[in-house]
Amino acid sequence: MWLISPPDSISEVFLVELLREQLNHQQALDQSKLEEPAPNDPPPALNGTPTKKSPKRSKTLQTDLNSSIAELIASANQQSNKKSPKKSKTSQANNSVSELIANQQSSKKSPKKSKGGATVQKRAGYLSWEDYFMAVALLSSKRSKDPSTQVGACIVSPEKKIVGVGYNGMPNGCSDDQLPWGKEGEEQNTKYPYVCHAEMNAILNKNSHDVKNCTIYVAMFPCNECAKLIIQSGIVEVVYLSDKHHDKPMTEASRKLLTMANVRTRQFHPTHSKLEIDFTKV
Ligand SMILES: [Zn+2]
Repeated sequence: MWLISPPDSISEVFLVELLREQLNHQQALDQSKLEEPAPNDPPPALNGTPTKKSPKRSKTLQTDLNSSIAELIASANQQSNKKSPKKSKTSQANNSVSELIANQQSSKKSPKKSKGGATVQKRAGYLSWEDYFMAVALLSSKRSKDPSTQVGACIVSPEKKIVGVGYNGMPNGCSDDQLPWGKEGEEQNTKYPYVCHAEMNAILNKNSHDVKNCTIYVAMFPCNECAKLIIQSGIVEVVYLSDKHHDKPMTEASRKLLTMANVRTRQFHPTHSKLEIDFTKV
């Protein structure tokens, strides 16, 4: 093709049209100088690529074309000196034509350089691993139907791969419309005997062979029942966000078990206080 990139200004389009007219005119002149072509002789290629059957004629065209382009550039330069307001766009058009000539004179195409030649730096403000994993845990909690407490968990391998996520909810096949979600009253009429905690679901949902030596990121310090599951599954570290049930008996029991089993526990301190996910921006 003629252009290495589409024209991006009116001046450039105009200049390209001039070039095409000049080429057509040059072809007509050239055609008249040459001998009568053979009946099946193809016309010279418009893209400047020499045809196999008429290399000499194409070469002549190429030379004439380059000189025509040079004349146009000289003319454009004179116009740009007279009309200062359009100087920048005319200059852009000249640059495109100059690149065109350079491309035609050299068969080797040089790679495009970014404007200004500045080195692009990596993005700043990206999520840290810790924030990322806890954010996945919290995002998972948004799936919970528990009206009072939404907890999410995210299990991460030593290679920093997420191998399981979960949130608190009723067991599979057990209707969460029929089972109770309340916290008061007789125990069998509360959610407690029925709901599966996020840690349990994350462990059971694992997409790896096991979760040995993994870390679990969880919104709240695990209860004693989840502590048993964490220990038995081989998880070696618990990273929690909230410890609001610190003084409850079940939490004391949980700490005791995790400590005895050498499962490390640490509270998470985010570097971002808030993350926004905007589905309208990609
Ligand atoms: Zn639990």
